[in-house]
Amino acid sequence: MISQEEILEILNNYDKDEITIATLGSHTALHILKGAKLEGFSTVCITIKGRDVPYKRFKVADKFIYIKDFSEISSESVQEKLRELNAIIVPHGSFIAYCGLDNIENNFLVPMFGNRKILRWEAERDLERKILEEAKIRTPKKFNNPDEIDRSVIVKFPGARGGKGYFIANSKEEFYKKVEFLKSRNIIDDEDVKRAHIEEYVVGANYCLHYFYSPLKDEVELLGIDRRYESNIDGLVRIPAKEQMEINIEPSYVITGNFPVVIRESLLPEVFKMGDNLVLASKKIVPPGIIGQFCLQSLCTENLELVVFEMSARIDGGTNSFMNGSPYSFLYNAEPLSMGQRIAREIKLALKLGMENKIIY
Ligand code: ATP
Repeated sequence: MISQEEILEILNNYDKDEITIATLGSHTALHILKGAKLEGFSTVCITIKGRDVPYKRFKVADKFIYIKDFSEISSESVQEKLRELNAIIVPHGSFIAYCGLDNIENNFLVPMFGNRKILRWEAERDLERKILEEAKIRTPKKFNNPDEIDRSVIVKFPGARGGKGYFIANSKEEFYKKVEFLKSRNIIDDEDVKRAHIEEYVVGANYCLHYFYSPLKDEVELLGIDRRYESNIDGLVRIPAKEQMEINIEPSYVITGNFPVVIRESLLPEVFKMGDNLVLASKKIVPPGIIGQFCLQSLCTENLELVVFEMSARIDGGTNSFMNGSPYSFLYNAEPLSMGQRIAREIKLALKLGMENKIIY
């Protein structure tokens, strides 16, 4: 595991007046880079030919580092170029997927915003559940064996695959029938089935809560909320029930976009409590805990209970729904603040106060 001392040594050799904010051109790079520019930083986008279009057209990157293949992101030459640019990396979902957790933990010697150790805890479902339980956050009931299924469940497969191949079952018989069907279509294999995650299907409205924990202020902020726009489920529900029965299409939950939403104001005390508790739990389990951006993906039931089915201990894709600020981020300073700009602001303040050791790992 790369130690913070190693990273701070690299950072100490940087020209602090010429810091560049860097990320991979994908996921949430637009507002990470735009936010950094708004706070006065230079920006660099790591990209491949063809995927650079949005970053060029929206002019959010001052420089580009071109690689042949996204997996090249962890190479020595890319790391070297980043260090030459005095770069601080903001990791997002695609960056983590392409760089790989092992590389981030052991090889990627570039200063990073946030706690790199915690990234594994959100990527692996059992570790994720441990933190959520420690934080006393309500999660869907988990079934360890398909034979225990006694209610509607959703079945998920390993890795964040954006909901592909997920299915709903109401009994063990239905579970096995659907597994056979997905295997016959090569959507899943035996290894996936062994590692299938089965949990209670929660009927509720979706709220993905985007928080920012500032170690400098020791405060959790709520910066925005989105809900997901998923295919084919969001198309499927437009078909009247009678026709749905006739066409017999299996739902899938592939994320294709996001809507900004607001939550009933009376639920906000609970929303803040969950964010505060998660930060405290993460400090205890993976010190120094969550730093900066994180997200709780929840479903609100008709009893107004928030059930969390997923957490991100890094910037979540739903933050793209408030690149120009959200109703909540507006409440802090009456300005259109994005998550990307909030991150850049924390980095700027830490550099000014000489408190980089609180946020860079
Ligand atoms: P990603 O990491 O890309 O967000 P994922 O593969 O980890 O996706 P989840 O986010 O866990 O998948 O779930 C995908 C979708 O499935 C959710 O957005 C939600 O619509 C639905 N879903 C997940 N868990 C439940 C649940 N317990 N009850 C009801 N619906 C659920």
